[in-house]
Amino acid sequence: MKLGDIEIQAVVENKFKLDGGSMFGVIPKSLWSKLCRPDENNLVDMDINPMIVKTGRDILILDTGFGDTLNERQTKIYGLTQTSRWENILVEESIKPEQVTGVILTHAHADHAMGAFKRGHDGSVQLRFPNAKYYIQKREWQDAMNPNERTAATYIVEKLRLLEDSGKLVLLEGDTELFPGVSVKVIGGHTPGMQAILIDGGGQRVIYPGDLMPMAAHIKIPYVAAVDLDPITTMNQKRWLHEKMLKEDWIIAFDHDRQFKLAKFRQDENGKIVPVGV
Ligand SMILES: [Zn+2]
Repeated sequence: MKLGDIEIQAVVENKFKLDGGSMFGVIPKSLWSKLCRPDENNLVDMDINPMIVKTGRDILILDTGFGDTLNERQTKIYGLTQTSRWENILVEESIKPEQVTGVILTHAHADHAMGAFKRGHDGSVQLRFPNAKYYIQKREWQDAMNPNERTAATYIVEKLRLLEDSGKLVLLEGDTELFPGVSVKVIGGHTPGMQAILIDGGGQRVIYPGDLMPMAAHIKIPYVAAVDLDPITTMNQKRWLHEKMLKEDWIIAFDHDRQFKLAKFRQDENGKIVPVGV
């Protein structure tokens, strides 16, 4: 899709399954299962949807998926059902990894940050986009590098350390414009340092809000994942996003939806907010 001079493309890096209960928090299964059908193990299917942004000067990647350097145990824990599609995606989009100048991470959870790495021919772990700078909030980075008992399963610290040691990491402190038309805004909730990425062009705005609203099934305010560290902040930010989506006609890029990659919101005759694909 074109936003003035900026071109954006949602891509599917991988597919995975997570426990439905952990994805919908306090919502009873009898309700969430109507929106999201679980399998016999109570797992729900999710896509991993990074975005490619071409500004005319820069090629940017928003979140990176899981990548292909996970071990067997991690692959099983995260319910990955196939291998990383990064190689295919880059061929399909006619992008050489060296051309990518910026990678913006909403947060450092494994399904968002581990695609920053690839397995080299010699088996070593390397940066997938060798010439890019990697942008993330400083707060998120500190939390990721010092996980607690609750967050330890979501961050792969030994890999993140490779990124830190590469000298390519840029730690942000708050909201800022990183490239013309591309800015970040701290959202919190899911993790205290999670940021949304905003893309502005041609009078339109796209928001890539990370795991604030991972799927269209999470549009309703209380449909908040149990893994969110501060669910009240998530609900407040969702309320804010509803208003922007409806009143200012923003476009949302869902990071885990199977059906909707980019959508606008409309209110139906009963006041219910429904996604409309764009
Ligand atoms: Zn996450």
